[in-house]
Amino acid sequence: CGIIGYTGHRPATPIIIEGLKRLEYRGYDSAGVAFCLQNKVHVFKSQGKLNNLENKLCSQEIYLTTTGIGHTRWATHGLPTEKNAHPHLSQNKRFALVHNGIIENFKELKHYLKGKGIQFNSDTDTEVLVQLIAYYHEQGKSILDAIYETLNQVKGSYAFALIECAHPNTIWAGRHSSPLILGIGQGENFIASDIPAFLNYTREVIFLEDNEIVELTPSTYQIYSLKNKKGISRKVTTINWD
Ligand code: GLU
Repeated sequence: CGIIGYTGHRPATPIIIEGLKRLEYRGYDSAGVAFCLQNKVHVFKSQGKLNNLENKLCSQEIYLTTTGIGHTRWATHGLPTEKNAHPHLSQNKRFALVHNGIIENFKELKHYLKGKGIQFNSDTDTEVLVQLIAYYHEQGKSILDAIYETLNQVKGSYAFALIECAHPNTIWAGRHSSPLILGIGQGENFIASDIPAFLNYTREVIFLEDNEIVELTPSTYQIYSLKNKKGISRKVTTINWD
């Protein structure tokens, strides 16, 4: 299972597919990508090998977008079907999210959200994350605050990446007990489960720690602590292996 996010100046989809291929060694049963175009989130996903996903990505349009997220799934909750493949969308279709790990208290969060009229489209534990973030955002919280509010209620392990249609060049990501690494480029930034996913593009990395989230744009990144919402500065490490 693996995650990659790219925001920069090149077509995102080929970089994301290449990154997912470099994460294949982690194992997976399905894969998917999401990006924003013309104020809409677009999701493509497929059961089985990455080739199946690539075959769906033949339209020209997708090469216009320079920000996106991708995922390979190793199912823990819900069958390894296309429906359960990530990215998952919020009910209002504004947000798309990918996740590695397990949300242990997903049943109670799902029950709470269903009580608020939210309908679910998958059998995964993951979907509560995107639905809860979107719910808090609709209640008037900023995206960052909606993420804080959600993660502070979640029990379990996660690395995640999130996009929202009104911010086509931003990715939010975070981790707790699952790996997530930031790659810093020139006018482009990456997030991934492991360094090889983006090593062809940059060797400057930051290892995110537990309970940290990050907001990425092509030219900026800011890490925040989940505990106190304060900004964190962290040293950049240069990778010198191939
Ligand atoms: N628990 C999530 C699911 O089953 C994520 C699995 C993964 O880490 O790929 O969809």
